[in-house]
Amino acid sequence: RTEKPSSEVKTVCPYCGAGCEIHLGVRGGRVVSARGVRESPVNRGNLCVKGRFGLKFVNSPERLKKPLMKVDGRFVEVEWDEAIKFIAERLSEYGGSEFAAVASAKCTNEENYLLQKFTRAVMGSGNIDHCARLCHAPSVAGLKMSLGSGAMTNSIDELRDAACILAVGTNATETHPITGYRVLEAVRGGSRLLVIDPRITRLSEAADIHLRNRPGTDLYLIMAMSRFIIEEELQDTDFIGSRTDGFDEFREELFKLDLDEVQEITGVPLEDIRRAARIYASNSPASIIYSMGVTQHVNGTGNVLALSNLALLTGNIGMPSAGINPLRGQNNVQGSCDMGALPDLLPGYQGLDDPEALEKFSRAWDSEIPDYGKILPEIFEDAAGGRIKAMYIMGENPLLSEPDIGKVREAFEKLELLIVQDIFLTETSELADVVLPAASFAEKDGTFTNTERRVQLIRKAIDPPGDAKPDWWIISRIAEAMGSGEFSYETSEEIFDEIRGLVPSYAGLSYDRLESGGIQWPCRSQEDEGTPYLHADEFPKPGGRASFIVPGYQLPEGPSDEYPMILLTGRNLYQYHTRSMTARVRGLERFLGTEELLMNPEDAESLGVLDGDEVRVTSVRGSITVGVRVTERVMKGTVFMTFHFAESPANSLTSPVRDPVSGMPGLKATPVNIKPC
Ligand code: SF4
Repeated sequence: RTEKPSSEVKTVCPYCGAGCEIHLGVRGGRVVSARGVRESPVNRGNLCVKGRFGLKFVNSPERLKKPLMKVDGRFVEVEWDEAIKFIAERLSEYGGSEFAAVASAKCTNEENYLLQKFTRAVMGSGNIDHCARLCHAPSVAGLKMSLGSGAMTNSIDELRDAACILAVGTNATETHPITGYRVLEAVRGGSRLLVIDPRITRLSEAADIHLRNRPGTDLYLIMAMSRFIIEEELQDTDFIGSRTDGFDEFREELFKLDLDEVQEITGVPLEDIRRAARIYASNSPASIIYSMGVTQHVNGTGNVLALSNLALLTGNIGMPSAGINPLRGQNNVQGSCDMGALPDLLPGYQGLDDPEALEKFSRAWDSEIPDYGKILPEIFEDAAGGRIKAMYIMGENPLLSEPDIGKVREAFEKLELLIVQDIFLTETSELADVVLPAASFAEKDGTFTNTERRVQLIRKAIDPPGDAKPDWWIISRIAEAMGSGEFSYETSEEIFDEIRGLVPSYAGLSYDRLESGGIQWPCRSQEDEGTPYLHADEFPKPGGRASFIVPGYQLPEGPSDEYPMILLTGRNLYQYHTRSMTARVRGLERFLGTEELLMNPEDAESLGVLDGDEVRVTSVRGSITVGVRVTERVMKGTVFMTFHFAESPANSLTSPVRDPVSGMPGLKATPVNIKPC
């Protein structure tokens, strides 16, 4: 039932990284409707089903309304004063590497900035990380090495004018719907579409060529595309000569490729790879989009480097509608990286090895800046080993989202102090010593930065329920209670003003300017209108040139006699992340309220299972039961499920083995066996 709103507030969808602008309808202090902002350059009035019908989780009676403290194993409600005093006293017992914080891609830029500042300046710890480690850490690492910046190079809207789109490992119509629709719109307008994906998706069905490769083999396939481009002399020699380094070494490496081996490993006929290479190189501007099918592998950074090499080889970078575009998953994952919620980078990607940056932040925060901290998987390993004793988690639910969650639970149970702030009592917060009730996106001001680097205002539409407070308010009050004089913020705008004074790419932004619409960073001055596409003149690297970098080859663990199938994990249109929000929206639950294991008909037949049958899925790390849906959309020998559902937690099966460069676990390819129940 849709109620008519009494008023509307312009804000931003809290779900995926597209960052669609919405008119949020409210009545009687509740969210009652949402409609797309017609003038928005991101969504042009459109919303997907989650943005349109999925925001009433805000009104849920299950929202946290009071701070909770665990007494004799049970939560009791307390007042803010008592909770803050307790936290301040307990946190004072720890410092440096004994403390870690997990920031959140669902929280605002201001809140992520504050949590990393609190971790570094108050707790003296470099242990700050967040879920980007599980989605685009290889993009941040790989694109920074190659191009000097880990961000999406172009804008979503530019896809409409791309002559060719290469979509790799992305089910964008479900996970990034507005971007996916923009790709389909481009195809209707005449763009060529190439898809690399083991699964059949809406994008692959619309493609000129679907290169349906075996999971984890993208690197071989993309390197072969580059080789064919050179063989057919389709590379952009002028661009390579004037704007890049390292081409000769890269070329040499390409000609070492054993193409028969490429066909064998990928399962894709060489002639199809050659045809795709020809189309990509002959239709400029060509834009690459990709998601976690590329990054969530033990060679995630290698995959990203291979894609970047492909764009450089053809000169498809530094101009509109081209480039290399990692589609960020959660609404503010770009912003939480920008804000330095990473253990190896300060806000604005300023290096911990840069004396000027250290001096600047040290002066601004009146504090020493601690050295490099631990990445998320190491944080859990250190907690399990007793080296990290206290943890602060803001708006994340690692007990479902991390790989090998059995080990994550053990780590939490070993902690002496776990503080979680969230809007619902999640699986992770159930284990906490203190749970702090946070305001949702609809109940606070702040900024989100979407996947295309567009910084946008979110605006308070209603009051938070009970005593819930914005995350920035909570962190500030705890820091003050611990004696810091650097957290006396009373508005999120004060925090943003501090950020723009410290982060050059945000220097030209202000709440006043953003009031009339989002602006894409870098935006370095009041006169700067922002940057729709990057690298027009030079790359932000020494000498201003991009680098061809030869990626190392590594394949994921393959099937074995004991575990003969490969499990792929991912997301679907109707749910979001660990379902803390979407599970509270009845309409979305009706579309897809339980997990389904997608299985190829040949595998189903050989296992003797039918649609709807329950099966037991077992990996070396755990075992779950789940219902089967038989479909050609997954290839023989592979199965697919999401990580959304606590009742069948896919991440109790997945591997924590990591990409050595970025620390990304290889979530996308886990050997499993499957038995009918
Ligand atoms: Fe929200 Fe993403 Fe859907 Fe847009 S595409 S409405 S940002 S979930």
